Amino acid sequence: MEQSGALVLMVEDEPQMRRFLRATLTSHGYRALEAATGEEAIAQATQWNPDLVLLDLGLPDLDGLEVTRRLREWSTVPILVISARGQEGDKIAALDGGADDYLTKPFGAGELLARMRVALRHAQRSPEAEPVSRFGDVVVDFGKRQVLRGGQAVHLTPLEYKLLILLLKNAGKVLTHRQLLREVWGPNASSQTHYLRVYMAQLRQKLEADSARPRWLTTEPGVGYRLRAPEP
Ligand code: CA
Repeated sequence: MEQSGALVLMVEDEPQMRRFLRATLTSHGYRALEAATGEEAIAQATQWNPDLVLLDLGLPDLDGLEVTRRLREWSTVPILVISARGQEGDKIAALDGGADDYLTKPFGAGELLARMRVALRHAQRSPEAEPVSRFGDVVVDFGKRQVLRGGQAVHLTPLEYKLLILLLKNAGKVLTHRQLLREVWGPNASSQTHYLRVYMAQLRQKLEADSARPRWLTTEPGVGYRLRAPEP
């Protein structure tokens, strides 16, 4: 089930990659706009106000990071960054700068479409509208601040709960180490990645069937963590 008709701006300077993106999008009912440079991307976004932006980081004029910054000055459109290997630093900076997620080349059509669905779903949803969240056999009741697993209450510490809520509200999206540390521990903790390792291990122990092979609370190596979004 695709979000039929959603308008997607793809920003990519390689013709071959653009062909692949265009074919994938149009065959799944999306409408596609194209830009080959950063300036063109900003002009197109301003003119057409797309529902989603697919943004290559390596562009001939502005880099994707700058494009993200400029779009975020006025727009909350979901931005899915496309990076090549070796652009880890740029990828993280783009996420910290307001991009929603990333795909590393090469990727398949299935993965692209799945990420696009998550990003579009996020854009439509107001978190307050959903007082209860579920993933696997875990149910989180925000009103009661209660977590159940397989119907049994699970005790989380306040920091574990805060971390879980942040991941849940962004389900399907990667959050960088820096974003997680800043939100949960505060601005002075943004380099303390060992806090995260410890607390993610605790959450997995309490919420995953096999904490050594987590199904929901996944690691994005070198970048951060993601709570996998259950398909609705
Ligand atoms: Ca490129």
